[in-house]
Amino acid sequence: MTPLIRTPKRRLITSALPYANGPIHVGHMAGAYLPADIYVRYLRSSGEDVLWVCGSDEHGAAITLRAKKDGTTPRDIVDKYHVEMQGAFKGLDISFDHYSRTSSEKHHKVAQDFFLKLLENDSFEVKTQEQYYDEEADQFLADRYITGTCPTCNADGAYGDQCEKCGATLSPTELINPKSTLSGAKPILKPTTLWYLPMGRHEEWLKDYIENGMLDGKVHHDAKAWKSHVVGQCKSWIDGGLQSRAMTRDLKWGVPVPVEGADGKVLYVWLDAPVGYITATMEWAEKNGKDWRDWWQNEDTELLHFIGKDNIVFHCIIFPILLKQHGDFILPHHVPANEFMNLEGDKISTSRNWAVWVSEFLENNPSGSDPMRYVLTSIMPEQRDSEFTWNDYRDRINNELADVLGNFVNRVLVLTRKYYDGIVPMAPKESVLTEVDKSLVDVLSGAGERIGDLISRHRYREAQLEAMNVARRGNKYLTEEEPWKIQKTDPQRVKTIMHLACQVVGNLGIVLEPFLPRTAEKISVSFGVNGLRWNDVSPSLVKNGTVLGDLPILFTKIDEETVETEKAKLGQKEVDSNDSNKNTVMLQKDSTTFDHFSEMDLRVATVTECVAVKKTKKLLKLTVNTGLDVRTVVSGIAEHFSPEDVVGRKVVLLANLEPRTIKGVESWGMVLMASTNDGGLKFVTPEDGVNPGDVIR
Ligand SMILES: [Zn+2]
Repeated sequence: MTPLIRTPKRRLITSALPYANGPIHVGHMAGAYLPADIYVRYLRSSGEDVLWVCGSDEHGAAITLRAKKDGTTPRDIVDKYHVEMQGAFKGLDISFDHYSRTSSEKHHKVAQDFFLKLLENDSFEVKTQEQYYDEEADQFLADRYITGTCPTCNADGAYGDQCEKCGATLSPTELINPKSTLSGAKPILKPTTLWYLPMGRHEEWLKDYIENGMLDGKVHHDAKAWKSHVVGQCKSWIDGGLQSRAMTRDLKWGVPVPVEGADGKVLYVWLDAPVGYITATMEWAEKNGKDWRDWWQNEDTELLHFIGKDNIVFHCIIFPILLKQHGDFILPHHVPANEFMNLEGDKISTSRNWAVWVSEFLENNPSGSDPMRYVLTSIMPEQRDSEFTWNDYRDRINNELADVLGNFVNRVLVLTRKYYDGIVPMAPKESVLTEVDKSLVDVLSGAGERIGDLISRHRYREAQLEAMNVARRGNKYLTEEEPWKIQKTDPQRVKTIMHLACQVVGNLGIVLEPFLPRTAEKISVSFGVNGLRWNDVSPSLVKNGTVLGDLPILFTKIDEETVETEKAKLGQKEVDSNDSNKNTVMLQKDSTTFDHFSEMDLRVATVTECVAVKKTKKLLKLTVNTGLDVRTVVSGIAEHFSPEDVVGRKVVLLANLEPRTIKGVESWGMVLMASTNDGGLKFVTPEDGVNPGDVIR
């Protein structure tokens, strides 16, 4: 039996602080901002007490490195992106109650006080150890910033933590001829003191908190409401044993460690950044004459963190440990993390410019915010990774927003003007309603609750679909009842039809607001329901005799040229004279389990035939011999290889990938490719003597 969860008095919502060293792309939006915006707009419309805070994350080694590379200061970098990111949020109508930044004086003080309280509560282990130091760059080096010769296999270019040639796990001091990747200099060893958070101490209560929603022997939250991928990731971290993690860094840019003799040390960004949520709340409270403690130190408050899956460990494990160690704060009740959104068959990548940048998109498409919100919500990666494509974008705007929603609203307005000078006709008597009318009335009666329930459960895709279904039902009703055919013969019946159709549109002005705020506003104003709220949704929302106001065309269709232009932008790098550092290496992904790995059937195959897939630029259709069978695989490599380059090759195939139809061709697996540093693709070629069907493990 699930124990009772108390209904909170208020909700504090946070969205991941975006990192201030690059602009915001659609993947960010779909991950941590748009879902929170829908949720918060719904709560506000329902009259709930809710506060939503966010801000720029402006510290960390990546920002100092970026500044060094660009020949500027960290301050310049964060000032630039703090402004730019806010522009993107505003453009997409992301309605934070307060947006802060972590480089502010106020935040430094809050984060330092937080650290001191942790220190007082004996939360750290202090260790002094020798670490590599780059004298030219004047800083200590993280493992990945040191390369050298591998002591195991003698390969060059091994990293301080691992040799990628032989796979050996290394520590930086084992490397032969170590070199700093920052300056190329030979680093020296210097002793340094670090404050470690011994996370292993916290495994037991964390397990109960994550798996059962229990804290200090009491029910804390509904553990079953958490997404399975969030719980799964946390469990595998905890089961693998939580290692101590340093909470300070030897860097100049950041929040100084507030301890005597700790000059040149700053707080680890993952201590500093989530405390930024607290700072943002304090700033908001100060501005609005409220008490921030109501939101952070009151058991009647529910705390929700909206993030992408790369931040799960920080919000579900590290931050809860910090909050609990501090002692004065509530812990997160829900972390509805999203997975990742890919783009046109590839991962979104800032360095390769494989991204749709929100500010740039809106600059070229001034009316694009609702359409972009609509598409991102339709494909939100709630339970698994999803994919954005421009063809899909066009189809959804043209077939759904323009043809269904826009068309329906416009027809109702035009007909009401034509028949009744734009005045909503009187409500019909119950007794004259047909079965069809009644079922439409039922749709409206239940709409608020249905859609609201889905939003409350963080199922935004379904919620938006359900809201659009109200428009679909209205559109179908009007099309099938054909009032224009009977206006002459049965004007009384037409009044009923048009009254109900007006009710559908009016209700759309409320239920679409969380998803399409600008469209909903236009509809609400035109149909006289602005200012009304979620609980007002009903079949008698629009008052008899309302005079309908003007309403511009809601959506313009997307043409082929726009789609092609947007696609062509992908991967094209702007010429950046400062960008000389080509040696960017993709960071290691999160840990996976051996079970996940062994589920994959990887085997060698030979390509026997290859042709281009018609009407595509990127796709080749390969026929491969897997030793088991001969099958078809579609591969997005046509921009790098012509069919004759591919025939006869031995390739590595992920053979048990779920089959899927790509551009009308069924694909039964995936050929593995290596992405090279310069943005190219190369085959992963097995040695001689390896044959089709040989299994890779
Ligand atoms: Zn090696």
